[in-house]
Amino acid sequence: MAANRGGHVRDASPGFLLGKLADWSRETSLWPATFGLACCAIEMMAASAAHYDIARFGSEVFRASPRQADLMIVSGRVSQKMAPVLREIYDQMPEPKWVIAMGDCASCGGVFNNYALVQGVDNVVPVDVYIPGCPPRPEALIDGIIKLKQDIGKGLR
Ligand code: SF4
Repeated sequence: MAANRGGHVRDASPGFLLGKLADWSRETSLWPATFGLACCAIEMMAASAAHYDIARFGSEVFRASPRQADLMIVSGRVSQKMAPVLREIYDQMPEPKWVIAMGDCASCGGVFNNYALVQGVDNVVPVDVYIPGCPPRPEALIDGIIKLKQDIGKGLR
């Protein structure tokens, strides 16, 4: 380990470099689980279509199996009956994994303050990014994915 002129510590050990490589590859290929719950999912699908094209950011591969996904986008209302299913899908995803709560319903229950719905998916799984809106536009989802990617690249998540 050595310090450069700016006082920043440089570490060229193989473990450090491999860690940086892993962060970079995770950052540039976040693969969401195929998972849509309600109206917000329509905007999520639009984000992966040609006009918005999240393939530009490496996230176009929606995986049908949670074991091949590292990102869960909770796009819509989470009912009490769906919550254990959502948790099981989350548990089947390998580490490291991240969760985006897309829209007001997933973030806090939205306008549905009633007994049938979970009042925020963070009651079921840990959430990394919250995206407000009813529904959020595809640009907002892409912005959330980019912010998450930046944090992963810096090793913050
Ligand atoms: S936030 Fe709005 S658009 Fe999204 S699932 Fe709830 S009601 Fe539907």
